[in-house]
Amino acid sequence: MNKPIDIPIKVVNAMSGASQSVGACGAPAEMASAARGAGKTETLNQYAADYPKGPHDQPQSMCPAFGSLRVGLRMRRTATILSGSACCVYGLTFTSHFYGARRSVGYVPFNSETLVTGKLFEDIRESVHAQADPGKYDAIVIINLCVPTASGVPLQLLPKEINGVRVIGIDVPGFGVPTHAEAKDVLAGAMLKFAREEIMAGPVQAPKNRVTDKPTITLLGEMFPADPVGIGMMLAPMGLAAGPVVPTREWRELYTALDCAAVAAIHPFYTASIREFDAAGRKVVGSAPVGVEGTEGWLQTIGVAAGVAQEKIDAAKNAMLPAIKGALSKMPIKGRISMSGYEGSELLVARLLVESGADVRYVGTACPRTQWSDSDREWLEAKGVHVQFRASLEQDLDAMNEFQPDLAIGTTPVVQAAKQASIPALYFTNLISARPLMGPAGAGSLAQVINAAIANKSRFDQMEAFFNDVGAGDTAGVWEELPKAHPEFRDMTRRQLAKMQKARKAEEMG
Ligand code: SF4
Repeated sequence: MNKPIDIPIKVVNAMSGASQSVGACGAPAEMASAARGAGKTETLNQYAADYPKGPHDQPQSMCPAFGSLRVGLRMRRTATILSGSACCVYGLTFTSHFYGARRSVGYVPFNSETLVTGKLFEDIRESVHAQADPGKYDAIVIINLCVPTASGVPLQLLPKEINGVRVIGIDVPGFGVPTHAEAKDVLAGAMLKFAREEIMAGPVQAPKNRVTDKPTITLLGEMFPADPVGIGMMLAPMGLAAGPVVPTREWRELYTALDCAAVAAIHPFYTASIREFDAAGRKVVGSAPVGVEGTEGWLQTIGVAAGVAQEKIDAAKNAMLPAIKGALSKMPIKGRISMSGYEGSELLVARLLVESGADVRYVGTACPRTQWSDSDREWLEAKGVHVQFRASLEQDLDAMNEFQPDLAIGTTPVVQAAKQASIPALYFTNLISARPLMGPAGAGSLAQVINAAIANKSRFDQMEAFFNDVGAGDTAGVWEELPKAHPEFRDMTRRQLAKMQKARKAEEMG
């Protein structure tokens, strides 16, 4: 066992209470200032620059750390360990298994004492040493959640490598990283940085699954598995091939990702990852090959970025655009659509919908505006679509109420509100981003699900007519008799609350 070292841990006030559950979910400003006081200023400043907030502080979505956890769990030969409050870890583990993680999530528990004395860091170090088996792992990822970040648990002091297993420690607090989408970038960026430094230090192992000798285009952002294949077909006439998708599925793919002709920022919010590609001297191109205009523009910019001759770029366009045009005209979408999500591909989906003939009025995304989403934003705005970055739930709901769409595509609460209002709705994450978007395949597949959903409107009307107000508001639930309203109880509670508030104010002033 290594000798304990002096570590600059400060305990956040939240821990002095009975509960460990106070985190970014409850008191983000206090947590952030505690973290700054505990030596995490540099990390938080970098996050503030990479993931700008506003117009409001933080979109309402799941715990951001889920993004990093998911990236770690999807990587082969990688162990992922969480350090945080038990309730946060329970929620994150539950969600990761709900989304099909076939791996255990590591956890280093703590209590007030281990946090106060710095023993938590020693426990983390011990657990990393115990896990570092090069026969099983290429890398171990340790994620500091809110309380350990706010307390300054210094993961940067962990060894960079143990027995040849890389150790990647990251802070992913809800008070520093606004969305789970951006948390994917935190880990992907940290891994790219590590891999780039390895490359700079000397020869690295060749990726096992490199199947092409052609120059490759690295694809940035998680996408439907058929999309990289489709993109590869579009690139072939230019003498290019699709490279790995970042976040990668194994360590050595990081080397191939860095060793590319250019990077396609299909999801435009991977700021930390792009910083690493910049440092490696790689050009980065925004947008994606969606629809006819999107594909034409994308092939052009990718071809130019990769130094391809114009006639080859034209050959790629001629090979692909007629097929996309054909697919779009065969499967038109008729209807008004409002859309929102937190995956980062919302603008691309909206482009495809517009090109399919849909009347799209609003696109909300929880992700921030970046220079790599500019071309999609400009294209959509020119078609009269309102694009809202860092959209809040309220903005998404307002847009739906304002535009009264035939179909609302959105996050769970938006879909729920739409269905309550008898508006057909589709959940973005499970039903839209889980199908191909690019090229001819994307054009056909999206139209199918959208048209089927819009055609369901009459069923919503029938259900509304049948159930009327049953189960709405106070009468929701299962009752044996018709519920009776008791306004006098409400008045009583209101009076009691006002009295308590008055007493509290008097106490504060006295
Ligand atoms: S780790 Fe996630 S769930 Fe826990 S307090 Fe922070 S934001 Fe909330």
